[in-house]
Amino acid sequence: MQIVHSIAEMRRLRRALPGTLGLVPTMGALHAGHLSLVRAAKQACDHVAVTLFVNPLQFGPKEDFGKYPRTFEQDCALLEAEGVELLFAPAVEEMYPGGAETTVDVPEVGSRLDGASRPGHFRGVSTVVSKLFLIATPDRAYFGQKDAAQVAVLRTMVRDLNFGLELVVCPTVRDADGLAMSSRNRYLSDEERRIALAIPRALASAKAIATQGEWSAPVLEKLLTETLSEVSGLQLDYAAVVDPVSLLPLASVTQGALLAVAAFVGTTRLIDNELLSAEEFTESTTAVLNLAEVLSR
Ligand code: AMP
Repeated sequence: MQIVHSIAEMRRLRRALPGTLGLVPTMGALHAGHLSLVRAAKQACDHVAVTLFVNPLQFGPKEDFGKYPRTFEQDCALLEAEGVELLFAPAVEEMYPGGAETTVDVPEVGSRLDGASRPGHFRGVSTVVSKLFLIATPDRAYFGQKDAAQVAVLRTMVRDLNFGLELVVCPTVRDADGLAMSSRNRYLSDEERRIALAIPRALASAKAIATQGEWSAPVLEKLLTETLSEVSGLQLDYAAVVDPVSLLPLASVTQGALLAVAAFVGTTRLIDNELLSAEEFTESTTAVLNLAEVLSR
């Protein structure tokens, strides 16, 4: 695997690659969630490049930029084992030399969910991802469904700025206990981890209730909020049932919906979500109708 720190070198190597390139942007401290994106990229593209950059622009002043886990050697070994050819790992000064002032902003979608709780966060994300796209010019770029609001923001950005690449979204990878994998999980004590499991449980049960016939988004949102507000040791940031593309509130979930949660456990902010697809609904509608039919016999 070639490890590249300079933008000029990355551009040069990219230009020399024949065929399609899949790009997997990460902040490192890699886990099986990241590796699932690498595998998806390998399946669909001739070449795969991973980027590793802890982007200061997307952290708030009181957030964990300084203590964000940095495990470069281990990350390199994991990527080597996956057969990744190219790792772009620039320093902060390489990406943001003095005098850089241009940013990319998706003001509406980027101000919802995490954008509301973390002002400026998605401006940082959109700016760095734009730069990575311009440097690496991938044909496809891979992101995780775990960061559902990020996906909505980047989809809007790719459309509005005509990046001309395919954004591929991969399912959330979970640990055996159900917790969505995250580089930040390593901050959790055993006790905090136990508390954090309330998040995937609440999401799964809200999804089950929805598919069993409770289609009201406000009712499901209230249920999630009430369930998670009662968990001691967990501080709910938001629980929302929204349109997965616009991140706006919904009346009904039958056309598809995103059930999203953010919560603090101790000082660690965790996010997770479940998607309800319209198809799922057609099936469950049929199931309910069938049940009604059976009961009326
Ligand atoms: P990060 O390093 O946290 O910025 O994440 C880099 C990419 O990996 C993003 O597209 C994330 O959505 C994705 N990702 C992080 N955790 C998971 C997970 N548990 N399952 C799938 N994708 C993930």
